[in-house]
Amino acid sequence: MLLQKAYFPMKVLNISQGYGNKADTHKKSYAIDFCGNDAGKDPVYAPFDCKVSKLYVKKGHTNTVWLTSLNKVLCANGYVGYMTMNIGHPEDIDKLKLGQVFKQGDLICHEGKTGYATGNHIHLELGKGTKAGWNLVKTGNLEEWVILNKVKAEDYLFLKEGTVIKNNIYRGIKYNFKYDSLEYETGTYKTLGIIKIRSGPGTNYEQKKVKDITEDGRKHVTSINLNAKASYKKGTIFDVLEIIYNNDSSIWGRGYSGYVCLRDKDGEVLSEIIKKE
Ligand SMILES: [Zn+2]
Repeated sequence: MLLQKAYFPMKVLNISQGYGNKADTHKKSYAIDFCGNDAGKDPVYAPFDCKVSKLYVKKGHTNTVWLTSLNKVLCANGYVGYMTMNIGHPEDIDKLKLGQVFKQGDLICHEGKTGYATGNHIHLELGKGTKAGWNLVKTGNLEEWVILNKVKAEDYLFLKEGTVIKNNIYRGIKYNFKYDSLEYETGTYKTLGIIKIRSGPGTNYEQKKVKDITEDGRKHVTSINLNAKASYKKGTIFDVLEIIYNNDSSIWGRGYSGYVCLRDKDGEVLSEIIKKE
């Protein structure tokens, strides 16, 4: 079965509060607040095929729904597993039922301001596994509910192509959500700069020596010294026989001479495809 990707659940990504700052309400969690278009109540969609695994609806409190994936999903950093997301503040989750099933992309609810909220938004947290729930974390007098097995949403959720990034910075920190448009294929690629040839698909693998690459490869490297480290020159055309998705979000191609980074962990394209296989 094809793995489903875990998606960011709104069409506009607009951060109104991040985490980790002493002055904010998200001190101990990795919660991020999103306010969509910042005009009204934007819809929130199912990030994956999921079921309602926990509901908290109480007058005067922050309404919250937990959505747990029905299957293992592929996350943006390469992690594969069951995931649980909670969404806080919506007004329209009182009609949801525990165990209710949604397909990826189905409408779940809308932004709201139940509980502690000054404007319409959602409070989003992501956790690994199927156990919906929270830990109560106290810092002095301040209490905060934190999802179990918390992880950083920006590392795990893909942005569907077409998602608008209105704001991804809060208090100088950038929350680097990455797009999903990464269907890399085997074929012929061209380097866009000088690129190291490595013995494996990651920057932790050592760079190969010129003597260890193919005869044809040696015509395209920056040094002819056989004991020098091998790097392709800018504009080198090479074949990619296999695509490897690294856990750090980088994408690698296996060629005849070794492994070459096609897209680095920050999303920069280092080699572009010029002909599909
Ligand atoms: Zn919040």
